[in-house]
Amino acid sequence: MKRKQKRFLQMTLLFTAALIFLPDVGLWSLYKDKHLEKSAEPGEQQTLPLGMGDGQLFTWTDGLKRKDWHDYESIQKDAMRSGKGEHGKPYPLTEEDHDDSAYRENGFNIFVSNNIALERSLPDIRHPNCKHKVYLEKLPNTSIIIPFHNEGWTSLLRTIHSIINRTPDSLIAEIILVDDFSDREHLKEKLEEYMVRFAKVRIVRTKKREGLIRTRLLGASLARGEVLTFLDSHCEVNVNWLPPLLNQIALNHKTIVCPMIDVIDHNHFGYEAQAGDAMRGAFDWEMYYKRIPIPPELQRADPSDPFESPVMAGGLFAVNRKWFWELGGYDPGLEIWGGEQYEISFKVWMCGGGMFDVPCSRVGHIYRKYVPYKVPSGTSLARLFTFGWREDIRPGEPLHTRKFCFDAISHSSPVTLYDCHGMKGNQHWSYRKDKTLFHPVSNSCIDCNPAEKKIFMNRCDPLSETQQWMFEHINMTVLEKFNSKASS
Ligand code: UDP
Ligand code: MN
Repeated sequence: MKRKQKRFLQMTLLFTAALIFLPDVGLWSLYKDKHLEKSAEPGEQQTLPLGMGDGQLFTWTDGLKRKDWHDYESIQKDAMRSGKGEHGKPYPLTEEDHDDSAYRENGFNIFVSNNIALERSLPDIRHPNCKHKVYLEKLPNTSIIIPFHNEGWTSLLRTIHSIINRTPDSLIAEIILVDDFSDREHLKEKLEEYMVRFAKVRIVRTKKREGLIRTRLLGASLARGEVLTFLDSHCEVNVNWLPPLLNQIALNHKTIVCPMIDVIDHNHFGYEAQAGDAMRGAFDWEMYYKRIPIPPELQRADPSDPFESPVMAGGLFAVNRKWFWELGGYDPGLEIWGGEQYEISFKVWMCGGGMFDVPCSRVGHIYRKYVPYKVPSGTSLARLFTFGWREDIRPGEPLHTRKFCFDAISHSSPVTLYDCHGMKGNQHWSYRKDKTLFHPVSNSCIDCNPAEKKIFMNRCDPLSETQQWMFEHINMTVLEKFNSKASS
């Protein structure tokens, strides 16, 4: 190679290296200009290039400083842990551990909870982009409000430990535990003595059983933080869960933000993502909350960015305290459990606010196997599917029955909903003493496939469990008279 050529090659290499590696000259500076100094739209979160953590501050052209809020020390500590249930792994259950008595008091396996460390580690299952996001350097602080009614000892403590270990202390104004008139012994002095070690924890108690909505309201009325964050008493918060929530509220205070709610299995306490992440909140005409896919045109380019949801899931969310009261808080007439998420969601919309789900904020929640506590009858807003029966069958709440009836044309046809005509015929059903629902036109009974959540017609079989239906109040005299009339 000629000398001149060699020198030219050396220069080119040197220049390329400079372009790549030197700060403020190289490609990095171009990247930085493009990404860090663009003006941030409200609600948009910024992504930190790989390896750029360590407390550095970044200024966007909106003039606001942002930083990496990860607590790398606590992340490191979690990574080192080992033992049963660590890293959110399922606890290895034996047959005996499944005994029903383990579930009776809480609706989840308290035996497993008692055998897993209170400070157990969790897997970081966030979208990879979340690891590189930076949030406002100045975030509002929050009161964390946790209502509880007869909560298990270890499940309640694990909630508190996970908050203390995975939340920047400067962001916690206080943690308010609100006892909704529990009668379990461990929730009295023993709890107070335990919590002395946490300077920020306060315990307050209702004077009678209020239900979760008024219990949350009591906590909110005592709170002093700029933001209110509500959690259930059997949660585990995951890595860096709080800053992305507070960031969204700091950008626009008329915002309610929800973390992604992960599933802590009620049997073995394994930690898993809720099925269907790219889903938003919705509800059907029976007021059942469900999550449905986000239409493609509304999907964000970065799936880890916050996205709007028409209604929120319920118990786990953060809201600016002043704005919560401007909204009127929750309706204090709401009883025990259920429905409150719609009330607050509608008020948010009507008052010009928005509701966001924040994928980079994840909180595990134990979904119970069954509700363990007593709900005074007729007070819960959450009704299950009910059948109004007047020789035809009308699904829905009796007082608000929509005018649809169960209708079947023949034995082979499916049961469908059709406008009620009151003429019996294809809509004529009878409830028999053997607890089957009989349809004379097709000479068959309603059967169901619980796994597929389907109902269909089948040959009547009083011994089949899937054909047994329960009616709450039955006047046997009327029923017998009716059945004898129907069969004659
Ligand atoms: N809770 C309460 N009073 C009640 C019922 C529930 O304070 O009458 C608390 C409960 O301890 C929990 C939260 O409210 O922290 C939500 O209730 P739950 O977990 O039973 O509802 P789910 O999550 O099963 O829908
Ligand atoms: Mn719960």
